[in-house]
Amino acid sequence: MRLDVPTLFAVVTLVALLMAGWICFMAWGKPARDALWAWGLALLAYAGSHVLFAMLGPQPLASLVIGGNLAYSVALSLMLLALRRFDGLDTQAGPPLLVQLQLFAPVLAIVLLYLLLMDQYAARVVAGSLTFSLQIVFILRSLLDRRMPRHGRGRYILLTAFFALLASLLLRSLAAAMGWMASNDDDAGRLWLTMVFVVALCAVISISLGFVYMTMERAELRNFELAMKDMLTGLSNRRAISDQLHMAVSRAQRQGQYLSVLMLDIDHFKRVNDGYGHQAGDAVLRGVAHTLLSRLRAQDQIGRFGGEEFLLMLPDTSLEGAATLAEALRQAVEATPTQWGAHRISVTISIGVAGGVITGAVTVDGLVAAADSAMYRAKQSGRNRCEVAPPLLAPN
Ligand code: GH3
Ligand code: MG
Ligand code: MG
Repeated sequence: MRLDVPTLFAVVTLVALLMAGWICFMAWGKPARDALWAWGLALLAYAGSHVLFAMLGPQPLASLVIGGNLAYSVALSLMLLALRRFDGLDTQAGPPLLVQLQLFAPVLAIVLLYLLLMDQYAARVVAGSLTFSLQIVFILRSLLDRRMPRHGRGRYILLTAFFALLASLLLRSLAAAMGWMASNDDDAGRLWLTMVFVVALCAVISISLGFVYMTMERAELRNFELAMKDMLTGLSNRRAISDQLHMAVSRAQRQGQYLSVLMLDIDHFKRVNDGYGHQAGDAVLRGVAHTLLSRLRAQDQIGRFGGEEFLLMLPDTSLEGAATLAEALRQAVEATPTQWGAHRISVTISIGVAGGVITGAVTVDGLVAAADSAMYRAKQSGRNRCEVAPPLLAPN
């Protein structure tokens, strides 16, 4: 199948312009440093490069060739910049020197290479394609950065698009190097261009969609975290731990398994706030959360249930097992003070333990109330201790 090259140019340009327009529209009102702006501008440069490419005739003007390739290189650099901004890198001092080189050196190289090799078609196609390929490798490396969370289909869409672009550029430079085409305007040259622009068309759609989807995925994740996480300690919030407990109770009921819960409350916490200030109190809350978290098993769940109260859910754990863990946690918190400036602030906790085999008669509210009243007894009996609720939970 032979496609008409000028029509393809027009279609790629139009689609890139449309995508650039919509992405800039989505970025409207966001700060200039927002990654979406850089992505929209990258697509604009991408579209611009194709406008210039479309104007090339059989004897192309050097300025059009250089301008088109320069715009293409700028588009790739802006995409790399956008990805780094998306990942929250370079926010303070701007990109480090090595990254600045990755951003600017290829753009400069393209101008120099095309000035030098203007009269040598094969050499300039190879040099240009290899420079673009290097830029795409930088982009792929940024997409595969191990420091970034690996979630998200948006990243996979982008990876696929950039791998396809890379393959098409390398193939075309191979074709030029092997002499399979002598110019853009011979039969073979047009065929290779057709391949490059079909890939370019698919890539521009995937690149736009992938990035927008990545942005949406992250917004969703942020909303989920805002709804389910306690911002001070990073633990599950009350709603999240309650949801988890409902699910765990249903599962334990179906399977007739053990499930225990611990209700934990910091002793005399008001004194910490009164003595050292509210921020010190916050630091102690984070410290206690960290101490508890570091001693839990993989299947256990912990949430901040109230101001200085934590709820722990221990699946597959008998009342005796839960009481042993509670005692270990109590000792750990007592032994791990929080450093606050020059002070080491020590706190203790009181723990109520409830649970056992979860029958159909057990409710979440009943279980939590049992742990709560055991905790209240621990407070009554002098604090810094664990109290265990009666093993058979009365139906509520
Ligand atoms: P008890 O041993 O009986 O539990 O005494 P307590 O002082 O710990 O209990 P009380 O319920 O009287 O005080 C809890 C305090 O926790 C009061 C409140 O100001 C404080 N608090 C609740 N949430 C936060 C928070 O997010 N940060 C800080 N710094 N303090 C908090
Ligand atoms: Mg307290
Ligand atoms: Mg309390």
